[in-house]
Amino acid sequence: MKELFPIFKANPDLAYLDTAASSQKPDKVLDAILEFYEDGYSNVHRAIHRLGEQATERYENARESVAKLINASPEEIIFTSGTTASINLAARSLIPTFDSGNIVITTMEHHANLIPWQQLAHKQGLELRTIPLTENKQMLDMEKARELIDNDTRIVAFTHVSNVLGTINPVKELAGIAHQHGAIVLVDGAQAIAHLPVDVKELGADLYAFSGHKMYGPTGIGVLYGNKDLLDRMEPPSWGGEQVEKVTIKQTTFTKPPHKFEPGTPNIAGAIGLGSAAEFILEIGYEKMQEHENKLIKRLLGQFEKLEGVTLLGPKERTGIFTFTMDAHPHDIAEFLDKQDIAIRAGHHCAEPLHCQELGLDASTRASIGIYTEKEDLDRLIEALEIYVKTGGVFNPDQVGEGNLSEEQILHAENIREHARKPRNKRIIPEPTATKMERNPFCGDELEVSVIVDEGKIKDIAFQGKGCAISQAAMSMLTKKLQGKKTDEILTLSGEKGREYVTSLLGIPIGPVRMKCALLGLRTVQEALR
Ligand code: PLP
Repeated sequence: MKELFPIFKANPDLAYLDTAASSQKPDKVLDAILEFYEDGYSNVHRAIHRLGEQATERYENARESVAKLINASPEEIIFTSGTTASINLAARSLIPTFDSGNIVITTMEHHANLIPWQQLAHKQGLELRTIPLTENKQMLDMEKARELIDNDTRIVAFTHVSNVLGTINPVKELAGIAHQHGAIVLVDGAQAIAHLPVDVKELGADLYAFSGHKMYGPTGIGVLYGNKDLLDRMEPPSWGGEQVEKVTIKQTTFTKPPHKFEPGTPNIAGAIGLGSAAEFILEIGYEKMQEHENKLIKRLLGQFEKLEGVTLLGPKERTGIFTFTMDAHPHDIAEFLDKQDIAIRAGHHCAEPLHCQELGLDASTRASIGIYTEKEDLDRLIEALEIYVKTGGVFNPDQVGEGNLSEEQILHAENIREHARKPRNKRIIPEPTATKMERNPFCGDELEVSVIVDEGKIKDIAFQGKGCAISQAAMSMLTKKLQGKKTDEILTLSGEKGREYVTSLLGIPIGPVRMKCALLGLRTVQEALR
């Protein structure tokens, strides 16, 4: 299906394995958006002119297509800016209506389905309960779920598919338990909507949230499905034009759902693009999409099983999300793969409680597939990982050989590798003048720097902590370079000057994302000195 996605014409060598973060867009979706802007652009609703009526029709048709995709009616489809906004809308509308009880979520939630409940439950004095994973860390512990959901449970909010483990949760079963106790069920469908058939009625979801950009649609648009009875009872958590029937200075009468929840000018082009994405999926059919993806999943599972030195997270029964760990920092693996035009994701995937508490990992590497993924993409990933395991390579040896880096840069690259393996001054200073710990929140890299300062100069400097090769090597090199240096001078190394200083130390080009890793050490030293 690559031929339907123009990105692959522009990037023929790209193995795009980051669909769980955001999917690529087919011509159909791009054309629908461009056509709207070129041929029929106008604001929607209330316009008494031809273009306004056409735009309104396109916008409302998009709602119908999305409704059809998930077996809902159009009045049950609220357009939002994405899953995060959908969950926030639900939480802001519902939580203030409860003055006691508990909210149940799970430990495998993306931050988007955790922080809104955590923050609002706390404010409202409600208890937040979390369903843990089973011992093998692959599925939700349903026995615990039965214990935790009780007659005081107001809302049960959980993900349909884990964005880290690929686990497909038993939505129907969990919704059944919640409903037995009179609780409202919200399902985060961000990782399901483009991969599994979603019938909100069959699943028993009262609310179902998803994003356009993960289902071959545009960014900045998403959906909160809500069953009609519930939406009628819910109050809009934000206010403005377009959602009202009558307004006086003292009072407002709101219109019916879904418009009651869509104040202001909506993302019209986004909704039209999303409608087109829904039609794209409907035309191909979930059955065909699943058949394609399941073949790839089976194949990749077999390949991972044979890969030595790589641990795959999650169960066998999964969607096309493959998160793994190996004896290397995920950032280094991601950079290594990127040099071969293989795009994957490294970090904690916005699921810190799952990563750090349940799985005991700071970060992991995730490859994820979509309708355009081909087996050759997976073979390239596996081959590259095999090379990585063999060489422990921070850099792709082929590309180094081909002169992608200059002779001098190759030496620097070797030097980085050596510093990362055997960092200098990674030790404890018993009585430091100052100590400071800093984190890179994207990947969990952590450095603790201790310094002894004497007469305005660094007399000794050492560090502790963990991180990718770049952050460890940069820190190790800094500890050598900064010995005896004036603290005033170190503090002037901010902005571009700091970036230049660290880049020249490393001696190779550093991309913007990895620059955060490279600068972590200098930033920590400066914080300690301050
Ligand atoms: N929920 C899950 C399971 C996700 O994977 C994501 C994004 O990765 C989100 C929520 C948030 O989606 P968005 O950033 O589109 O709002």
